[in-house]
Amino acid sequence: MLSPQLEQFIRRMPKVELHLHLEGAVTPRTLLALARRNGLDLGARNEAEVAALFHYRDFGEFLTVFMDLARAIVYGEDFERLAYELGLDLGEQQVRYAEVMISPMQHLSRGVDLREAIEGAMTGFARAERVGGARVRLVLDYGRGYGTEPAWGVLEVARAMQPRGVVGWSIGGNEIGHPPEPFAPLFAAARAAGLGLMAHAGEVVGPTSVWGAINALGITRLGHGIRCMDDPDLVVALRERGVVLDICPTSNLLTGAVPSWEAHPLPHIRAAGVPLTINSDDPTFFHTTLTEEYRRAVIHFGFNADDLCTAVLTAASASFLPPESRAALRRSLAAELEALRAELAV
Ligand SMILES: [Zn+2]
Repeated sequence: MLSPQLEQFIRRMPKVELHLHLEGAVTPRTLLALARRNGLDLGARNEAEVAALFHYRDFGEFLTVFMDLARAIVYGEDFERLAYELGLDLGEQQVRYAEVMISPMQHLSRGVDLREAIEGAMTGFARAERVGGARVRLVLDYGRGYGTEPAWGVLEVARAMQPRGVVGWSIGGNEIGHPPEPFAPLFAAARAAGLGLMAHAGEVVGPTSVWGAINALGITRLGHGIRCMDDPDLVVALRERGVVLDICPTSNLLTGAVPSWEAHPLPHIRAAGVPLTINSDDPTFFHTTLTEEYRRAVIHFGFNADDLCTAVLTAASASFLPPESRAALRRSLAAELEALRAELAV
Protein backbone atom coordinates (compact mmCIF):
# COMPACT_ATOMS: atom_id res chain seq x y z
CA MET A 1 0.00 0.00 0.00
CA LEU A 2 2.97 2.30 0.59
CA SER A 3 4.00 2.86 -3.02
CA PRO A 4 7.33 4.59 -3.79
CA GLN A 5 5.36 7.69 -4.90
CA LEU A 6 3.35 7.78 -1.69
CA GLU A 7 6.53 7.24 0.33
CA GLN A 8 8.11 10.20 -1.41
CA PHE A 9 4.94 12.25 -0.98
CA ILE A 10 4.97 11.57 2.77
CA ARG A 11 8.59 12.63 3.09
CA ARG A 12 8.16 15.84 1.11
CA MET A 13 4.62 16.92 1.99
CA PRO A 14 4.21 20.00 4.19
CA LYS A 15 3.02 18.95 7.65
CA VAL A 16 1.46 20.31 10.83
CA GLU A 17 1.93 18.77 14.27
CA LEU A 18 -0.38 19.67 17.16
CA HIS A 19 0.40 17.07 19.82
CA LEU A 20 4.06 17.09 20.73
CA HIS A 21 5.74 17.39 24.13
CA LEU A 22 9.02 19.29 24.26
CA GLU A 23 10.36 17.08 27.07
CA GLY A 24 9.39 13.97 25.09
CA ALA A 25 11.37 15.09 22.07
CA VAL A 26 14.76 15.40 23.78
CA THR A 27 17.33 13.24 21.99
CA PRO A 28 19.20 10.63 24.08
CA ARG A 29 22.45 12.47 23.31
CA THR A 30 21.15 15.79 24.64
CA LEU A 31 19.47 14.15 27.62
CA LEU A 32 22.79 12.57 28.57
CA ALA A 33 24.69 15.84 28.11
CA LEU A 34 22.19 17.83 30.22
CA ALA A 35 22.10 15.18 32.95
CA ARG A 36 25.89 15.25 33.20
CA ARG A 37 26.06 19.03 33.34
CA ASN A 38 23.20 19.35 35.83
CA GLY A 39 24.49 16.58 38.09
CA LEU A 40 21.64 14.09 37.58
CA ASP A 41 22.39 10.39 37.53
CA LEU A 42 20.24 8.81 34.82
CA GLY A 43 21.56 5.35 35.58
CA ALA A 44 22.93 5.26 32.02
CA ARG A 45 26.48 5.86 30.82
CA ASN A 46 26.02 6.29 27.08
CA GLU A 47 23.38 6.99 24.41
CA ALA A 48 22.54 3.32 23.96
CA GLU A 49 21.91 2.91 27.68
CA VAL A 50 19.75 6.06 27.68
CA ALA A 51 17.74 4.72 24.73
CA ALA A 52 17.20 1.49 26.68
CA LEU A 53 15.34 3.46 29.38
CA PHE A 54 12.45 4.15 26.98
CA HIS A 55 10.38 1.03 27.65
CA TYR A 56 7.06 0.80 29.50
CA ARG A 57 4.38 -1.73 30.28
CA ASP A 58 1.58 0.80 30.75
CA PHE A 59 0.74 4.49 30.86
CA GLY A 60 1.64 4.83 34.56
CA GLU A 61 5.12 3.44 33.94
CA PHE A 62 5.57 5.73 30.92
CA LEU A 63 4.64 8.75 33.04
CA THR A 64 7.14 7.76 35.73
CA VAL A 65 10.01 7.45 33.24
CA PHE A 66 8.95 10.70 31.53
CA MET A 67 8.92 12.68 34.79
CA ASP A 68 12.12 11.07 36.00
CA LEU A 69 14.14 11.87 32.88
CA ALA A 70 12.75 15.39 32.54
CA ARG A 71 14.64 16.27 35.72
CA ALA A 72 17.76 16.65 33.58
CA ILE A 73 16.24 19.80 32.02
CA VAL A 74 16.78 22.72 34.40
CA TYR A 75 17.89 26.07 32.97
CA GLY A 76 16.61 28.41 30.27
CA GLU A 77 19.56 27.40 28.08
CA ASP A 78 18.56 23.72 28.44
CA PHE A 79 15.08 24.49 27.13
CA GLU A 80 16.65 26.59 24.38
CA ARG A 81 18.83 23.67 23.28
CA LEU A 82 15.88 21.26 23.26
CA ALA A 83 13.74 23.71 21.31
CA TYR A 84 16.47 24.52 18.81
CA GLU A 85 17.08 20.84 18.07
CA LEU A 86 13.37 20.06 17.85
CA GLY A 87 12.67 23.09 15.62
CA LEU A 88 15.38 21.95 13.20
CA ASP A 89 14.18 18.35 13.25
CA LEU A 90 10.61 19.44 12.49
CA GLY A 91 11.87 21.64 9.65
CA GLU A 92 13.69 18.64 8.14
CA GLN A 93 10.40 16.72 8.28
CA GLN A 94 8.76 19.57 6.34
CA VAL A 95 6.64 20.60 9.32
CA ARG A 96 5.45 24.12 8.52
CA TYR A 97 3.81 24.73 11.88
CA ALA A 98 3.79 22.96 15.26
CA GLU A 99 2.25 23.50 18.66
CA VAL A 100 4.61 22.13 21.27
CA MET A 101 3.62 21.45 24.88
CA ILE A 102 5.64 22.14 28.00
CA SER A 103 4.61 20.43 31.26
CA PRO A 104 4.90 23.35 33.68
CA MET A 105 4.35 21.59 37.02
CA GLN A 106 6.93 18.98 36.27
CA HIS A 107 9.49 21.78 36.20
CA LEU A 108 8.01 24.20 38.75
CA SER A 109 7.75 21.47 41.37
CA ARG A 110 11.54 21.09 41.37
CA GLY A 111 12.28 24.80 41.44
CA VAL A 112 12.69 25.57 37.74
CA ASP A 113 11.77 29.14 36.75
CA LEU A 114 8.84 28.67 34.35
CA ARG A 115 9.24 32.06 32.65
CA GLU A 116 12.91 31.33 32.06
CA ALA A 117 11.96 27.93 30.62
CA ILE A 118 9.40 29.43 28.23
CA GLU A 119 11.72 32.27 27.27
CA GLY A 120 14.49 29.74 26.57
CA ALA A 121 12.21 27.50 24.51
CA MET A 122 10.92 30.36 22.37
CA THR A 123 14.47 31.65 21.82
CA GLY A 124 15.50 28.17 20.65
CA PHE A 125 12.53 27.80 18.32
CA ALA A 126 13.09 31.27 16.84
CA ARG A 127 16.79 30.50 16.27
CA ALA A 128 15.86 27.25 14.52
CA GLU A 129 13.19 28.96 12.40
CA ARG A 130 15.77 31.42 11.09
CA VAL A 131 17.77 28.53 9.62
CA GLY A 132 14.95 26.46 8.14
CA GLY A 133 13.27 25.10 11.27
CA ALA A 134 9.50 24.93 11.70
CA ARG A 135 7.36 27.79 13.00
CA VAL A 136 6.45 26.79 16.57
CA ARG A 137 4.08 28.07 19.25
CA LEU A 138 3.72 26.82 22.83
CA VAL A 139 0.91 25.22 24.83
CA LEU A 140 1.16 24.82 28.61
CA ASP A 141 0.04 21.30 29.52
CA TYR A 142 -0.88 21.41 33.20
CA GLY A 143 -0.49 18.12 35.11
CA ARG A 144 -3.99 17.37 36.43
CA GLY A 145 -2.53 15.32 39.31
CA TYR A 146 -1.26 18.51 40.98
CA GLY A 147 -4.85 19.69 41.58
CA THR A 148 -6.44 23.00 40.67
CA GLU A 149 -4.81 25.32 43.21
CA PRO A 150 -1.29 25.69 41.71
CA ALA A 151 -2.84 25.95 38.23
CA TRP A 152 -3.86 29.59 38.77
CA GLY A 153 -0.24 30.70 39.11
CA VAL A 154 0.69 28.73 36.00
CA LEU A 155 -2.18 30.28 34.06
CA GLU A 156 -0.91 33.71 35.13
CA VAL A 157 2.47 32.90 33.57
CA ALA A 158 0.74 31.59 30.42
CA ARG A 159 -1.13 34.89 30.07
CA ALA A 160 1.99 36.96 30.70
CA MET A 161 3.91 34.94 28.08
CA GLN A 162 1.31 35.15 25.30
CA PRO A 163 3.35 37.83 23.49
CA ARG A 164 6.30 35.38 23.52
CA GLY A 165 4.29 32.67 21.74
CA VAL A 166 2.15 30.83 24.30
CA VAL A 167 -1.09 30.14 22.41
CA GLY A 168 -2.80 27.37 24.34
CA TRP A 169 -3.79 25.84 27.66
CA SER A 170 -4.19 22.10 28.30
CA ILE A 171 -4.41 19.47 31.00
CA GLY A 172 -2.42 16.25 30.87
CA GLY A 173 -0.99 13.60 33.17
CA ASN A 174 -2.90 10.73 34.66
CA GLU A 175 -6.65 10.80 33.94
CA ILE A 176 -7.37 8.15 36.57
CA GLY A 177 -8.76 9.85 39.68
CA HIS A 178 -8.39 13.30 38.10
CA PRO A 179 -11.55 14.12 36.10
CA PRO A 180 -11.73 17.35 34.04
CA GLU A 181 -14.67 19.02 35.81
CA PRO A 182 -12.80 20.74 38.71
CA PHE A 183 -10.67 22.55 36.11
CA ALA A 184 -13.67 24.29 34.54
CA PRO A 185 -13.05 27.75 36.12
CA LEU A 186 -9.42 27.66 34.96
CA PHE A 187 -10.43 26.86 31.40
CA ALA A 188 -13.00 29.65 31.47
CA ALA A 189 -10.26 32.07 32.56
CA ALA A 190 -7.86 30.74 29.91
CA ARG A 191 -10.53 31.20 27.23
CA ALA A 192 -11.20 34.75 28.41
CA ALA A 193 -7.47 35.44 28.05
CA GLY A 194 -7.63 34.33 24.41
CA LEU A 195 -5.79 31.03 24.85
CA GLY A 196 -6.78 27.99 22.76
CA LEU A 197 -8.13 25.08 24.81
CA MET A 198 -7.35 21.39 24.68
CA ALA A 199 -7.26 18.45 27.08
CA HIS A 200 -5.74 15.02 27.22
CA ALA A 201 -8.81 12.79 27.63
CA GLY A 202 -10.15 9.45 26.52
CA GLU A 203 -6.67 7.93 26.41
CA VAL A 204 -6.70 5.84 29.60
CA VAL A 205 -10.19 6.65 30.94
CA GLY A 206 -13.36 6.12 28.87
CA PRO A 207 -16.20 8.39 27.66
CA THR A 208 -16.85 10.13 31.03
CA SER A 209 -13.48 11.83 30.78
CA VAL A 210 -14.18 13.01 27.22
CA TRP A 211 -17.69 14.23 28.10
CA GLY A 212 -16.16 16.23 30.95
CA ALA A 213 -13.56 17.77 28.64
CA ILE A 214 -16.08 18.90 26.01
CA ASN A 215 -18.91 19.93 28.36
CA ALA A 216 -17.16 21.35 31.43
CA LEU A 217 -13.96 22.64 29.83
CA GLY A 218 -15.26 23.67 26.40
CA ILE A 219 -12.14 22.45 24.61
CA THR A 220 -11.90 22.45 20.81
CA ARG A 221 -9.21 19.74 20.63
CA LEU A 222 -8.77 16.44 22.43
CA GLY A 223 -5.40 14.86 23.03
CA HIS A 224 -6.07 11.24 21.97
CA GLY A 225 -9.83 10.96 22.68
CA ILE A 226 -9.74 7.43 21.24
CA ARG A 227 -11.99 5.95 23.92
CA CYS A 228 -14.90 8.04 22.57
CA MET A 229 -15.82 5.01 20.46
CA ASP A 230 -17.17 3.34 23.63
CA ASP A 231 -20.15 5.75 23.54
CA PRO A 232 -22.07 6.32 20.26
CA ASP A 233 -23.75 9.50 21.63
CA LEU A 234 -20.33 10.94 22.38
CA VAL A 235 -19.15 10.27 18.82
CA VAL A 236 -22.17 12.19 17.51
CA ALA A 237 -21.47 15.08 19.91
CA LEU A 238 -17.82 15.28 18.82
CA ARG A 239 -18.78 15.32 15.15
CA GLU A 240 -21.56 17.88 15.58
CA ARG A 241 -19.41 20.22 17.66
CA GLY A 242 -16.41 19.77 15.35
CA VAL A 243 -14.08 18.76 18.20
CA VAL A 244 -10.78 17.62 16.68
CA LEU A 245 -9.03 14.49 17.93
CA ASP A 246 -5.24 14.77 17.94
CA ILE A 247 -4.39 11.10 17.59
CA CYS A 248 -0.94 9.68 18.34
CA PRO A 249 -1.05 6.09 17.04
CA THR A 250 2.34 4.70 18.13
CA SER A 251 2.01 6.35 21.54
CA ASN A 252 -1.29 4.51 22.02
CA LEU A 253 0.39 1.21 21.21
CA LEU A 254 3.40 1.72 23.46
CA THR A 255 1.49 2.99 26.52
CA GLY A 256 -0.92 0.07 26.16
CA ALA A 257 -3.90 2.38 25.51
CA VAL A 258 -4.66 0.00 22.62
CA PRO A 259 -3.45 -3.60 22.48
CA SER A 260 -2.54 -3.81 18.76
CA TRP A 261 -2.60 -1.89 15.48
CA GLU A 262 -5.64 -3.92 14.43
CA ALA A 263 -7.49 -2.86 17.59
CA HIS A 264 -6.76 0.87 17.14
CA PRO A 265 -10.10 2.70 16.76
CA LEU A 266 -8.79 5.36 14.34
CA PRO A 267 -10.49 3.86 11.25
CA HIS A 268 -13.85 3.84 13.08
CA ILE A 269 -13.37 7.40 14.33
CA ARG A 270 -12.62 8.51 10.77
CA ALA A 271 -15.59 6.59 9.37
CA ALA A 272 -17.84 8.25 11.96
CA GLY A 273 -16.86 11.65 10.56
CA VAL A 274 -15.00 12.94 13.63
CA PRO A 275 -12.19 15.29 12.51
CA LEU A 276 -8.72 14.05 13.40
CA THR A 277 -5.03 14.82 13.09
CA ILE A 278 -1.96 12.56 13.24
CA ASN A 279 0.81 13.27 15.77
CA SER A 280 3.93 11.83 17.40
CA ASP A 281 3.29 12.82 21.08
CA ASP A 282 6.75 12.02 22.53
CA PRO A 283 8.95 11.03 19.58
CA THR A 284 12.00 9.96 21.61
CA PHE A 285 9.98 8.05 24.19
CA PHE A 286 7.95 6.27 21.50
CA HIS A 287 10.78 5.76 18.98
CA THR A 288 8.93 7.60 16.22
CA THR A 289 8.64 10.82 14.19
CA LEU A 290 5.70 12.63 12.62
CA THR A 291 6.80 11.37 9.19
CA GLU A 292 6.84 7.83 10.55
CA GLU A 293 3.32 8.28 12.01
CA TYR A 294 2.06 9.32 8.54
CA ARG A 295 3.70 6.21 7.07
CA ARG A 296 2.06 4.02 9.69
CA ALA A 297 -1.32 5.64 8.98
CA VAL A 298 -0.97 4.38 5.40
CA ILE A 299 0.26 0.92 6.37
CA HIS A 300 -2.07 0.22 9.30
CA PHE A 301 -5.13 2.41 8.62
CA GLY A 302 -5.19 2.40 4.82
CA PHE A 303 -4.68 6.17 4.47
CA ASN A 304 -4.23 7.47 0.92
CA ALA A 305 -2.94 10.87 -0.23
CA ASP A 306 -6.42 12.41 0.22
CA ASP A 307 -6.57 11.25 3.85
CA LEU A 308 -3.07 12.56 4.60
CA CYS A 309 -3.88 15.95 3.08
CA THR A 310 -7.14 16.10 5.06
CA ALA A 311 -5.24 15.42 8.30
CA VAL A 312 -2.76 18.24 7.55
CA LEU A 313 -5.46 20.75 6.60
CA THR A 314 -7.58 19.77 9.62
CA ALA A 315 -4.55 20.44 11.83
CA ALA A 316 -4.07 23.88 10.27
CA SER A 317 -7.74 24.75 10.86
CA ALA A 318 -7.64 23.44 14.45
CA SER A 319 -4.46 25.29 15.40
CA PHE A 320 -4.50 28.00 18.05
CA LEU A 321 -3.08 30.68 15.73
CA PRO A 322 -5.12 33.88 15.31
CA PRO A 323 -7.87 33.41 12.66
CA GLU A 324 -6.08 35.24 9.81
CA SER A 325 -2.78 33.40 10.35
CA ARG A 326 -4.69 30.13 10.56
CA ALA A 327 -6.46 30.81 7.26
CA ALA A 328 -3.17 31.86 5.62
CA LEU A 329 -1.45 28.70 6.84
CA ARG A 330 -4.26 26.57 5.45
CA ARG A 331 -4.15 28.31 2.08
CA SER A 332 -0.40 27.94 1.68
CA LEU A 333 -0.52 24.28 2.76
CA ALA A 334 -3.34 23.54 0.30
CA ALA A 335 -1.37 25.13 -2.55
CA GLU A 336 1.83 23.28 -1.63
CA LEU A 337 0.01 19.96 -1.31
CA GLU A 338 -1.72 20.39 -4.65
CA ALA A 339 1.54 21.20 -6.44
CA LEU A 340 3.34 18.23 -4.89
CA ARG A 341 0.49 15.85 -5.74
CA ALA A 342 0.59 17.01 -9.35
CA GLU A 343 4.37 16.56 -9.48
CA LEU A 344 4.32 13.05 -7.99
CA ALA A 345 1.01 11.99 -9.51
CA VAL A 346 -0.44 10.80 -6.19
ZN1 LIG B 1 0.37 14.07 25.16
